[in-house]
Amino acid sequence: MTASDPVQVPREHIVAGNWKMVGSRSANATLLAGFGGMDRGSATVVLCPPATYLGDVARAIDGSGIALGAQDCSAHDSGAYTGEIAARMLADVGCAFTIVGHSERRAMHGEGDALVATKAVRAIAAGLRPIVCVGETPEEHDAGQAFDVVERQLAAVLDALAGDAAGARTIVVAYEPVWAIGTGKTATPEQAQEVHARIRAQLVAAELASVPVLYGGSVKPDNASALFAQPDIDGGLVGGASLKAADFAAICRAAG
Ligand code: PEP
Repeated sequence: MTASDPVQVPREHIVAGNWKMVGSRSANATLLAGFGGMDRGSATVVLCPPATYLGDVARAIDGSGIALGAQDCSAHDSGAYTGEIAARMLADVGCAFTIVGHSERRAMHGEGDALVATKAVRAIAAGLRPIVCVGETPEEHDAGQAFDVVERQLAAVLDALAGDAAGARTIVVAYEPVWAIGTGKTATPEQAQEVHARIRAQLVAAELASVPVLYGGSVKPDNASALFAQPDIDGGLVGGASLKAADFAAICRAAG
């Protein structure tokens, strides 16, 4: 079976907003008030604020159909891990998703494939859906290693979940070429689709054909439709544009 196999399993469309370490209680309230009143289409929408604001955002989106996500979770369940937040704590305050393996954590906090895989396992054990980020650095991109890097990063997570087929089916993959994150340089829809097709093939081989694969990297209202029209792109992981209510709503509408 290949990524372009005509026997396609329906896949959920998802747009997740990663607020990163930006915001304040008042700025968040303004953003949510604006976004809450806008048409956001029918895709699943996930908001990932900084951990300190999860409770506020949970209350603000209660009953709206918008899901809450964290930006990271600990690889540990409980104990003497100062500053860490367990996946089960995130679930306890209303999260349904958590990002794991974002390139900023891989690059700035030394997170490797094994740690990211452990975080994904912890997230699933806590009832969260991990949004597993994969993507090549600019150097890896220039060296033509994108496929190999992405395949290796995803394989680490799939291998860790090999004994848990039901859990593995809950993951979301986000392909985020590091050279396109926060830079304004977006992969062209064709460039992104090429990598997404490889990810799709890897998922299909692991009997995970229904897992959504999001694109991330300078997604904006003016490029979202073309990206999301690609056959193997099921939505987006959005940084900067998720902080602008009208832009984020337009991106959500473009996904479904
Ligand atoms: C991200 O934070 O995952 C991201 C893709 O950021 P941006 O949309 O700003 O490039």
